[in-house]
Amino acid sequence: MTANNILTVDGNDIQPGEYKQVKLLVGRLPSDTQISILCHVYRGKESGPSLLLQGGVHGDEINGVETIRRMIEAGTFEQIVKGTIIAIPLLNVFGFINFSREVPDGKDVNRSFPGSSKGSLAARVANTLTRKIMPHIDYAIDLHTGGASRYNYPQVRFSKGVSESFELAKVFGSRFLIEKATISHSFRKICKDRKIPVIVYEAGESIRINNFAISSAIVGIRRILNHFEMVDFNTDTSKEDSIFIKKTIWVRASFSGLFLWTKSSGQAVLKGETIGYLKDPFGNKSVKVTANKDGHIIGHNNASVVNQGDALFHIGYDTEIV
Ligand SMILES: [Zn+2]
Repeated sequence: MTANNILTVDGNDIQPGEYKQVKLLVGRLPSDTQISILCHVYRGKESGPSLLLQGGVHGDEINGVETIRRMIEAGTFEQIVKGTIIAIPLLNVFGFINFSREVPDGKDVNRSFPGSSKGSLAARVANTLTRKIMPHIDYAIDLHTGGASRYNYPQVRFSKGVSESFELAKVFGSRFLIEKATISHSFRKICKDRKIPVIVYEAGESIRINNFAISSAIVGIRRILNHFEMVDFNTDTSKEDSIFIKKTIWVRASFSGLFLWTKSSGQAVLKGETIGYLKDPFGNKSVKVTANKDGHIIGHNNASVVNQGDALFHIGYDTEIV
């Protein structure tokens, strides 16, 4: 930000009170198709915090893309009075058009930070964001979903020991707030290194649109905008208590076969309680799936046929109401 408060993103000047779309060139595919990152930059007339909203780091995780797209379409960010909102609905365009978490060389953008301007596509996407956007932000919200056929109940994850991120998670107000160690070369790790409070929202599963996941994200983002007094709308900030989860564990399949769950994500469970069944397809065998901790189911596998060892239920335990 310059002295007269002009924000310059990749050579584009954006004045207080102004809105601009900025296209960041990332690279080219063998077809000569250009890959870029489209950023919507909204500036309030008054100075204030700068917030990054980001979807589609994994291009097949559509709920985050659709969350930001809906908010743009609804004109939510145009109501900004203070600070800056940088909204990137889709970071990983290649993954989006290929229904894939990854980019051409099999690399994951979210394991490629801070990246390199001379690296492969994942490294270039990460590096473009790191160099051209991160210097301009004070807070970040990164929107994700579960993996293929793995559903996540709306939850916010934040880095262990980063109190500003925990505070941001509490304002967002998901049902589940989950403390996690950082993963090297992830967006969350680079934010931690640069002292940018970040929350990672996880809801629904990849490829599929899930309206509960999207509407919960929109409510959380509106609470954050309201909290920082960045917008001139009054969001109803009342919310149910959140469950702060310190540890998570998977319940895995002890038997290959049809998987029928009887409890699903969002529900409380007790250790030893039956939460599903594994059945051979010929009607001969039925195996109970039981909870391995007292806690809450934060995610489950929607696959109807599973193999031994497959992750079935993700359970959050060691909890506190906040
Ligand atoms: Zn993801």
